Amino acid sequence: MDLTELYQKVTEYGDICDHCLGRLVAKRSFGLSNDMRGKGIRIAAALTLNQPYQEQSGQCWICGNFFETVDHWADKVIEAFTGIGGETFVIGSKVPPLMSESEEMIWSDLGLSDPEPLKSEINREVGKRVAARSSLIGDTKNPDLTAVIHISDGTVKVQIRPLFLYGRYLKYERGIPQTHWACRACKGAGCEACNGTGKQYHDSVEELIGRPLLPVFKAERV
Ligand SMILES: [Zn+2]
Ligand SMILES: [Zn+2]
Repeated sequence: MDLTELYQKVTEYGDICDHCLGRLVAKRSFGLSNDMRGKGIRIAAALTLNQPYQEQSGQCWICGNFFETVDHWADKVIEAFTGIGGETFVIGSKVPPLMSESEEMIWSDLGLSDPEPLKSEINREVGKRVAARSSLIGDTKNPDLTAVIHISDGTVKVQIRPLFLYGRYLKYERGIPQTHWACRACKGAGCEACNGTGKQYHDSVEELIGRPLLPVFKAERV
């Protein structure tokens, strides 16, 4: 499908922003951001059809103008990271189902072969902004911090990469399991059989080693 035809079909659904327009052909060409692609498609359509150039005028029917709020989200992420420590980060997002359904509908209606999902542009754009406004470095492979932005309720949840310790131990006693066992009778809820502890055995190697490490690393769980 040529780009002008694409533009005409897409705008029949309603107003669309440059980001969402360009993302439909995200794998065409290099060195362009999706909003540049979108603007380019608009310009090409105006020239091809010899019609006035039309900018987006209302609310984007796919993203609800999400990309106008990227700075706001970047600030929220930086605030959520504050005081935790860590040098590298990645952004994840929970996109409202209506948004992803809208774009999936248009992909199948127009038979598009190379669109990019909204979610991945959101993660990338917010991530670029966080990197520009903080000393943190984006790292998708092994980040210290992950911020998941929840678009529908406006919150940010931070996940911290776990710390793994490796070592060897000698066990001089029988009757201590390696790992914590939930009580067979209550499956960990706590009952008479386990004195309300929810445990089958009083203690385990896992707990004996983990317990003193909690305060050392200021950890919540081990
Ligand atoms: Zn949009
Ligand atoms: Zn029990």
